[in-house]
Amino acid sequence: MVTSVLERETITRHDAYWHVLNLPILEKVSTIPTNDSDTIPISEIFKGYQGEGQSVGIQQVFIRVQGCNFWEEGHPCKWNNNCIESLCDTAYAGHVKDANEWLTIDEIVKRVVLLKCPNVFLTGGEVFTCKLTKPLVECLYNSGITNIEIQTNNSFPIPVWNLSYVKFSVDIKTPSSGNVMHNIFNNLLAINENDQIKFIIASKGDFQYSVAVINHYKPCSQIFFQPAYNILEPKELIKWMLELNDSHIRLSLQQQKWIYGTTVKGV
Ligand code: SF4
Repeated sequence: MVTSVLERETITRHDAYWHVLNLPILEKVSTIPTNDSDTIPISEIFKGYQGEGQSVGIQQVFIRVQGCNFWEEGHPCKWNNNCIESLCDTAYAGHVKDANEWLTIDEIVKRVVLLKCPNVFLTGGEVFTCKLTKPLVECLYNSGITNIEIQTNNSFPIPVWNLSYVKFSVDIKTPSSGNVMHNIFNNLLAINENDQIKFIIASKGDFQYSVAVINHYKPCSQIFFQPAYNILEPKELIKWMLELNDSHIRLSLQQQKWIYGTTVKGV
């Protein structure tokens, strides 16, 4: 199935940023494939420690849904054309056809309950390529999972669920990712102070873009800047952040990459 997701207003606002920052306007893609199956393609389910954002250091069960719309459309995130480390760090979860298994909601919930942890991080790939995200979340809650974070790449509209136990973690794509044209800025108006937005920053241009987005939308969520691993020195980003002097913006180092690198799965 193919679903249109970019609204005219979103595109207009987006173009304004490129004008302000004097950066080129990239080609826009307006279609996204979604998965209509009654089972969910799964890459991996494991327990570990959150390495970035507001829940850093907290033990969580990671449910990694297989399939990212950017991979399926042939343009995965890549922050530096000359550096293999800068390609999408979950490349193995990129294509639905490579799923390790297809599980029903009941099977996933049983697997999670066995891991005896009340916190779940639902990630991908891209979670919203799957139509069953909401029933999965509700079944997890009914089985005793009281904290659920959903990671998304900001190319799907954030749903209005009003579920108090769900937090959204939204990756705003920066210019270096090559996917900035897919950002849905209306999502910044749909999230609240319990949610978070994250910017992976690989260059001064990414930093300026991120600041421009924040200044324009003034999101009430928590905000994190993360240096692109092996591309931008954290101390360089820290210098820019101190010069900016905005105490609402927090630094996040994606500590799982510093501990395990970018090729180890299940961490
Ligand atoms: S959105 Fe995430 S999974 Fe998809 S290509 Fe980008 S980094 Fe990889």
